[in-house]
Amino acid sequence: MEGDVLAAAPRPEEIRFEESLRPRCLQDFVGQARLKSNLAVFIGAARARGEALDHVLLFGPPGLGKTTLAHIVAAEMGSEIHITAGPVLERAGDLAALLTNLKAGDVLFIDEIHRLPPAVEEILYPAMEDYELDLMIGQGPAARSVRLTLPRFTLVGATTRTGLLTAPLRDRFGIVHRLDFYPREDLEAVIARSSRILGIEVGAEAVGELARRARGTPRIANRLLRRVRDFAHHLGEEVVTLAATRWGLEQMEVDGFGLDHLDRRLLTTIIEVYGGGPVGLKALAASLGEDRGTLEDINEPYLLQIGMLQRTPRGRTATAAAYRHLGLTPQGTSSPLFEGSD
Ligand code: ADP
Repeated sequence: MEGDVLAAAPRPEEIRFEESLRPRCLQDFVGQARLKSNLAVFIGAARARGEALDHVLLFGPPGLGKTTLAHIVAAEMGSEIHITAGPVLERAGDLAALLTNLKAGDVLFIDEIHRLPPAVEEILYPAMEDYELDLMIGQGPAARSVRLTLPRFTLVGATTRTGLLTAPLRDRFGIVHRLDFYPREDLEAVIARSSRILGIEVGAEAVGELARRARGTPRIANRLLRRVRDFAHHLGEEVVTLAATRWGLEQMEVDGFGLDHLDRRLLTTIIEVYGGGPVGLKALAASLGEDRGTLEDINEPYLLQIGMLQRTPRGRTATAAAYRHLGLTPQGTSSPLFEGSD
């Protein structure tokens, strides 16, 4: 099951499951208080003026609720959402087709917006800023440019890191928000809400354990809940108990900090192959045989957050907390209880 729990994108069969758990309005969206209150103000103001909401950029690791928020923005604005993703829009014409189908106030959600090809991104600038679309009609000497006026729409863009966006694109978003990892109490609320919707009874201790191991990520909390339900069922339990939860998590190789097989392999490689670091991400990815983007978008943010990994100008280093967690001893010390500075 390696990598399964952490997979960035839901599998096709998981999409329906996720859909069933998606909060439909801001009020049902758990946590992220500042983001929610700001969005509520902006949405309220736009509605009162009868205007489209300003363009919104949401960034943060996968599974924190960016797509969910795009749906909520559309619902709260009482408008329709059109969904696409950066890699899908290969040619300028693909985006033009979408833009010309929008109605006033509609939301266009572009996931992985950092992966738009430059030629597509370029037609997005005037579309976002002036609601205008420059189209080339025909080819060769007969080609001519036509300017179309678009209805006032709202672009909601999602990306893992703002640093991946070009400055001109980033600057065209009026509302920019980062989604943070969720604290344990919020994940408990997510799990409680999901178990209610799914009709699963989960003991309070089990809820706490799942929340602790969900890497601050609602998608992972829901995934773990779904799997653990199966383990409880296998044990013939009506209620998901702490014992079934722990057993299930162990089977999935999710440890006490919510780290999975790849997280541990990443830390162990830094320690055992690179003497604790610093090691560049490229070399690390090559040693692990993993995609660099996966490490950067999925594994690193959480390991940094819980203080097991540090990013230095010369590369990544494993912290004393990582050594402790893995039961390893830093070179030059003899005690596994080494308490070095992180
Ligand atoms: P992203 O687009 O950031 O990868 P999604 O919006 O697809 O993440 O969220 C993944 C799943 O996690 C959704 O199905 C949703 O049910 C759940 N989820 C995310 N954020 C929240 C939240 N704040 N409250 C409740 N559920 C959430």
